[in-house]
Amino acid sequence: MNIILLGAPGAGKGTQASMLADKYHLLHISTGDIFRANIKGGTEIGKLAKSYIDKGQLVPDSVTCDIVKDRLGWDDAKSGYMLDGFPRNIYQAEQLDKFADVDICLNIDVDPSLLMDRICGRRVCSCGESYHISTLNGATTCKKCGKELYRRADDNPETVAARLETYAKQTAPLIDYYKAQGKLVAVDGGKGSPEEVFDRICGRLDKLI
Ligand code: ADP
Ligand code: ZN
Repeated sequence: MNIILLGAPGAGKGTQASMLADKYHLLHISTGDIFRANIKGGTEIGKLAKSYIDKGQLVPDSVTCDIVKDRLGWDDAKSGYMLDGFPRNIYQAEQLDKFADVDICLNIDVDPSLLMDRICGRRVCSCGESYHISTLNGATTCKKCGKELYRRADDNPETVAARLETYAKQTAPLIDYYKAQGKLVAVDGGKGSPEEVFDRICGRLDKLI
């Protein structure tokens, strides 16, 4: 089963993707994580990606599509994956249709007015966990592994505003693209805790997987 995950920045894609990948035994592939690993490693792709990510823009399609095509060709992707953060525009979706079989497009729908606060209040850990400051009670370390939490470089108000605009213009049209293919599963990701959203998603996916 190959699933792609759609949702605005701050919709909870990363959190839900890792929980869903565990439950359904799918490989979790996040293009944002791939770019951040490249930035950390100081690679050429990392340097290029950073110049776009810092501005809240999409990394060029040629680079992004090549990375995803290559990653989906590895053996560990053969038994199903959860693609988080790709495609992000119609061109990427058309390319993906050429080299992959998408079974389900899961859209996590969140009221746009919630997104700025969710992202700017987000603190993340290198282990993959993320928190909102309102639930940390002043704590600065990860509850799961004890490491120091930090704020993603692109989680500042200016970059978030640009990311939300990029999403609205380029990514949101994918909802109709996958609806037309009969693959869309839309779930409300704005109400309730991450666990409640997860249960809501599973309620839908259990019938399809
Ligand atoms: P979010 O969904 O919260 O914005 P991601 O980690 O998915 O976070 O992405 C971070 C940034 O990485 C994006 O703002 C964009 O610059 C870049 N990026 C991620 N996926 C893609 C993609 N499919 N195409 C182009 N750029 C991407
Ligand atoms: Zn941690």
